[in-house]
Amino acid sequence: MAVHAHPDDESSKGAATTARYAAEGVEVLVVTCTGGERGDVLNPSYAVPEGHSFDTLEAKRAVRRLEMAAAAQALGVQQHWLGFVDSGLPEGDPLPPLPDDAFALVPLEEAAAPLVEAVRRFRPHVITTYDPSGGYPHPDHIYTHTVTAEAWEAAGDASRYVVDGGAEPWTPLKLYYNHGFSVERLRTVHEAMLGAGLESPFGDWISSRTAREIPERPVTTKVPVAEFFARRDAALTAHASQIDPAGFFFAVPRDVEADVWPWEEYELAESRVETSIPEDDLFAGIRGTEVAR
Ligand SMILES: [Zn+2]
Repeated sequence: MAVHAHPDDESSKGAATTARYAAEGVEVLVVTCTGGERGDVLNPSYAVPEGHSFDTLEAKRAVRRLEMAAAAQALGVQQHWLGFVDSGLPEGDPLPPLPDDAFALVPLEEAAAPLVEAVRRFRPHVITTYDPSGGYPHPDHIYTHTVTAEAWEAAGDASRYVVDGGAEPWTPLKLYYNHGFSVERLRTVHEAMLGAGLESPFGDWISSRTAREIPERPVTTKVPVAEFFARRDAALTAHASQIDPAGFFFAVPRDVEADVWPWEEYELAESRVETSIPEDDLFAGIRGTEVAR
């Protein structure tokens, strides 16, 4: 189960991993907390599909549902909406308050309840989400971490989140954080681009990351997924309102990427099974054991 804040996050973070496991026969469910209703059009070549507009929250939600369905199909995964409303990315100084309907303002018990229920119904062995910083300073990304951590703790506890007709408790076994943009990856790809005589998109980013001296989060697990980069790319472009096919996500030639960084990276945050670090498989310690029921 891959828990994400907005439609498109599943395609930019850990997408090739979900495609790989789905192709191997693992049941993969992407859970999307919000409808992405407060996203702007970020693709200059975007044309709104016939019969749609991008003018109201409802209209955007409808467009982004279409995009999400196409992305899920490209990845070969199932997808489930929690139904909360995008908080938007507050900008300005001072930051404006969040809108009243924002996901990030929903009380924790209410925000986590549908995810707890989704965990109990889908019964995942492994859950992925963002680290406590959100990995990106969007209130929905930070809150996605918070509700996922709550569901990780509570889904197996029969005394919590008790609802009429609810599914039986289920205890997931491993919880990971997505780390798609480690400094090590940025640096490796950056050097390979320069080495190939290409312009690197990561130069300024590496300098600002190094200057801020934020400690790097540990990477425990590198999943080899180069074979599935094409599916990830198809999923990204399915989010046509958000992803510019000539933009950032496509700036690194795919042969360079597959050559120097054929992995997606994760941090094992919690585990209820024995495993040894480093790992190359999110199901290490689960596969072939009796817990893989
Ligand atoms: Zn997002």
